[in-house]
This record gives sequence, structure tokens and C-alpha cells, in this order.
Amino acid sequence: MLPLLNAIECPRCNTPAVFLWSNGRDALCERCYRAQARQIPSNPPYGVILAPTRTPDGTWLSGARIRFPELRQYIDECLGNEKPRYEERLLTKDAKSLEHLIGILESLVPPELVAGASQDDPERVRAQIVEIQNRSVRRLRRDFENSRRGDYIVRALRHLGPVRRVQWRILAPHGHTRGDVVRYCQGRTRQRPRRFEAERLTAIYDFAKPDELYEGVDSFEGYLVFVYKRVNKAVMECGEVGNAIFVVNADRWQFLSHLSKMELLTWYSDEIRSYTHVGCWENASSEALRYAGLMRNDEMIQSDRVRAITKTAP
Ligand SMILES: [Zn+2]
Repeated sequence: MLPLLNAIECPRCNTPAVFLWSNGRDALCERCYRAQARQIPSNPPYGVILAPTRTPDGTWLSGARIRFPELRQYIDECLGNEKPRYEERLLTKDAKSLEHLIGILESLVPPELVAGASQDDPERVRAQIVEIQNRSVRRLRRDFENSRRGDYIVRALRHLGPVRRVQWRILAPHGHTRGDVVRYCQGRTRQRPRRFEAERLTAIYDFAKPDELYEGVDSFEGYLVFVYKRVNKAVMECGEVGNAIFVVNADRWQFLSHLSKMELLTWYSDEIRSYTHVGCWENASSEALRYAGLMRNDEMIQSDRVRAITKTAP
């Protein structure tokens, strides 16, 4: 596992930060910098410094040699592409900071080499690394542009405010039990007796008890969202036959579920895993739980049907 970038405290407000904004003389965390930048323009201009240190004469500098993989991982986390390893407050969603960070990352890619080296030449190996790193910079730039558009959508949605209908409510506000899931399923089954497979929902609950449990309303009626904070995943499952099971990051599901299908397909398709229930639903459910990091490869959803098969097997 890659080591994390070191955090230090903001010299002004003492909040821990992975990077600071600095003009050499002064260094501030993102929030302090944003507050100050509105009032005082700076010359020399501020830029991002990583793992900041201070020389004896008081000049702020980027600290210990920053390596490409660690910085790449940090930026990916800020963009919500990876399982969180940093504390939430150490990540940034600020477009200006991200732009600078990606710029620093790009500067860490060694210059391209002259082509023509032989297959096992170390120079050739190095050239391949350069190519891989350049590719990841391009991918991050793309993600960053997408996330910026995402911010735009969030702002637009916020602007719409109360017009937008609530699509989720918490199933049991004071803590949930298996009984809540069963009662929920009974209610649904009464409405659609033949089309609702209650066991799909209870089996997930039995296998991995979620931290939070939501039920869908409006267009998400029939769906339950099992939120697992420990793995930062949300599993969205519907008991109605014909629907797929979805897995998204837990800190993104509320946001993503408010977007239209079109928006999701255009900008966020790589944030959503869907598993279609073909044949026996236990397979797709198990696959989804494995992807969420909740189930080992040798495990399987324990439905009545699977239990019956296991029993009769020699
Ligand atoms: Zn600060």
C-alpha cells in the first residue's frame, strides 16, 4: 500500500493540511488562503506547496521529495475515485487547488526519452513508466474537468431547491433491525405480490448489517439503500424482479441518485457498478457485495434456496 502524504498544521488556524498555499513568505491552508485572497492580492502569487517545510530564514518550500504515485493517489481520492484513506478534512474539492495539484503531478513526470532503445533496455522501461504517468495525468485532468461540471450540476440542483422532490427517507431513524426490513418487504409484497422477492433484501441485511438504511420514494420506490461506512460503499437493491443491484461510494450515493439517467451515463458512469439479476439472484448480489468489499471470494449470499442446495449436496 502506498504511504500517505504527510500532513502539517496550517500556521494560521492550526488545521491539519496535506498542502498549503504559499507565496514563499507566507503559507496558509486552503480555507485561510481563500479568505485572504478575496481581500489582498499577492505579489509574488500564491501556489500550492506539498508536505510544506520552512527554511531557517523563514521561506516556505515543498518538503520531502514528493513521489508521483503518492500524489496521484491523493488527487484521485480528492476526486472521489478511490477508497478514502485520508481523513475527510485533508481532501480538497476546490477547483483551484486541484488544478495546481495536477500541475505539480505533471511536473513529476520525467521528460520523454529518445525512442529507439532495445526491449530490455532500462531506458525503455523508463520510457514506459513515463508513458503510464503521462496517461494518468491526462485521466486525472479529464476527471477533474468532469467533477467541475459535476459541481455545476450540484449548484444548479441546489438552486432548484424545494422543487426537487425527496427521493429517499431513512427507514428507521432510531436504529434499524431485521424486523424493519421484513416489515418493509411485507408492505411491498402486499402491493406487488408476485413481483417482489423479499429475500433479496433480507439476505443482504443478514449477510452484512448496514450502518444506515434508506428506503426509496418516487422513482426509487421499492429500493433499499444499505450504507456501509466502513468500506465507503452503498448497496442499492430492489426487491422487484427485473431490477439490477447497484454499488456506489457511500459518500456519493445521495448526490448520484438525484441525477437523471442521462447525467449519470454522460458523466458518472464509472462511479456506478450495476449487476443484473439473471438466473438466480444470489449470484449478482454476491458479486455486488464482493465488489463493495463486504464479502470474500469463497463466500456466497445465504438464501433459503442456496441453503437447500448446500444441504442436499454430498
Ligand atoms: Zn488555516
